[in-house]
Amino acid sequence: MLVNFKEMLQKAAESDYAIPGFNVFGYEDAIAVIEAAEELNAPVILMSNRDSVAHMPVDVMGAIYTKLAEQAKVPVCIHLDHSESFEEAARAIKAGYTSVMYDGSKLPLDENIKNTKEIVKMAHALGVSVEAEVGAVGYVGIKGVETEPSDAKKFVKETDVDALAISIGNVHKMEFQGAELDFDRLNKIEDAIKTPLVIHGSTGIVDEDLAKLSKSRVAKINIGTVLRMGFGNTLRDEMNKHPEQFDRIKFFPKAMQVVKEKALEKMKLLGLG
Ligand SMILES: [Zn+2]
Repeated sequence: MLVNFKEMLQKAAESDYAIPGFNVFGYEDAIAVIEAAEELNAPVILMSNRDSVAHMPVDVMGAIYTKLAEQAKVPVCIHLDHSESFEEAARAIKAGYTSVMYDGSKLPLDENIKNTKEIVKMAHALGVSVEAEVGAVGYVGIKGVETEPSDAKKFVKETDVDALAISIGNVHKMEFQGAELDFDRLNKIEDAIKTPLVIHGSTGIVDEDLAKLSKSRVAKINIGTVLRMGFGNTLRDEMNKHPEQFDRIKFFPKAMQVVKEKALEKMKLLGLG
């Protein structure tokens, strides 16, 4: 069933599990992730990132994912990851997305607050949840800015956002588990605000820390790279193994199976199933 993430995340923040937000790029990985969630009878969030929305218009993608979510036996939320404008968020909401992230992390705090407030006002009127970011989660090769607990407090008070992405040493697009998380900072943020927290760049986080995060007020764990590597690398192997084959759908089943296995592995670490 298709759901809005506010209640899902609130419950996860207060419980000993966290919900994965998996970056998916179309039908194949979306269905693989939903099958994993159904196997564990767990909620799941399908996310579209900037690259995927640049590849396929958000209304087309929204139509596919909302249909899959409606047919799923578990709660599924359709989420737009890292939008940078009111217009992008509005287009996704019109397409059926049940939550949107507005990423104003590159802006000064007051400007981030101002823009987030406008999106929250529009989204809440339509029953859609909003995630925003304070501090800036870095990327491999681009240093982030860790979240100040006082900024987080000011931000959630002024914006009424439903979930807050924080930067505590997590890094986007890591291909191995090597992030060093600052749990002291996490504790301070947890003391400052009650809003469900979100960690991006979770492929880079070691198993033990993922388990630890799931027991904190972190409610949503964004995972992309490990699924993309699984899908892409399996596809390459399959194509090399069958050079006579040219129908791409023949290469998909194995890649989908790998995505499902990786999703299952991460969900179990997050206390699901
Ligand atoms: Zn992210």
